[in-house]
Amino acid sequence: MKAMKYIDYYQVLGVPKTATEKEIKQAYRQLARKHHPDLHKGEAKAEAEEKFKLINEAYEVLGDPDKRAKYDKLGMNWKAGDDFTFDPAGSGGFTYTYQSPSDFDLGGFGFSDFFSSLFGQDFARSRRAGERTRKTDYQGEDVDAEISLTVDELIHGVEKEMYLSAPNLCDACQGQRFTRQGLCRSCGGTGIIEDTKTVKVKVPPGIHPGATLRLKGLGGKGYGNGPAGDLYLHIRVAAHPTWQINGSDLEAELFLYPEQAVLGDKMQVPTPHGSVQLKIQPGIHSGQRLRLKNKGLPKGGNAFGDLYFTVRIDIPQNLSQDELELYRKIQDLRRR
Ligand SMILES: [Zn+2]
Repeated sequence: MKAMKYIDYYQVLGVPKTATEKEIKQAYRQLARKHHPDLHKGEAKAEAEEKFKLINEAYEVLGDPDKRAKYDKLGMNWKAGDDFTFDPAGSGGFTYTYQSPSDFDLGGFGFSDFFSSLFGQDFARSRRAGERTRKTDYQGEDVDAEISLTVDELIHGVEKEMYLSAPNLCDACQGQRFTRQGLCRSCGGTGIIEDTKTVKVKVPPGIHPGATLRLKGLGGKGYGNGPAGDLYLHIRVAAHPTWQINGSDLEAELFLYPEQAVLGDKMQVPTPHGSVQLKIQPGIHSGQRLRLKNKGLPKGGNAFGDLYFTVRIDIPQNLSQDELELYRKIQDLRRR
């Protein structure tokens, strides 16, 4: 019996043994894009080719629940690089007859001995089945995207156009990663082509930063009777020239003339929720903070943060003779 090296496919894709299907798919796509041989030249190309083969092999196994289960069952006691001899009797009960996978044309896309001895026959069978079952229904991919909204947009809602990069099933191989010529060249064997598209998103009023909106059907295209994927839109808040953002609270400065600070006043002040009348108590001092309850950012559950004004005393410039006269009078009075 032929000895070969045990390959840790989890290590190859850089995912934990507990990785979800989605995590495995993401890791695979990222690596396949990075190490695609067409992107490299010279010596690096040969190296990329080797890596690329291994990445594809790992995904061939871990991306398929049946193969993954079979591999997990077998692999519990093995470490990467260990000498491995395939022993049907000791491999957990599945029956196996070795048959060279060479009866199926892999298009020059080689698999390791390790893979071939485990899955050679299954692989050939599933590839053939794949050819027959193309054009089946396929649910579009879910897409994650981020959007930064202004304070006003968060409070009042907004409709926006967004450019999105959405993964769509590769037309050339219908997401099968292989064509009759071997590994699909259009998608580089990922089964997916990133398409950019423009979508209209409607953000309702009162969305808080950190929230995620699920927008049905705005993700990747579906095929056949498969529905389109959803768009998961993560909401962020954009910096604002007037309002300083502090969690769900907003901060700004309020400039008062000395006489307003001394005598008190009533004044209209702007807030992102519309202007409100603010009562200034006589004797207010510079640096004092005024709190306007619920005039801040949405913080979820129909609640809002607060708006704080920090008082600054603004010394008037270019006073008239009359005004100067009055200030002198105040000065005299205070010196007595
Ligand atoms: Zn393709």
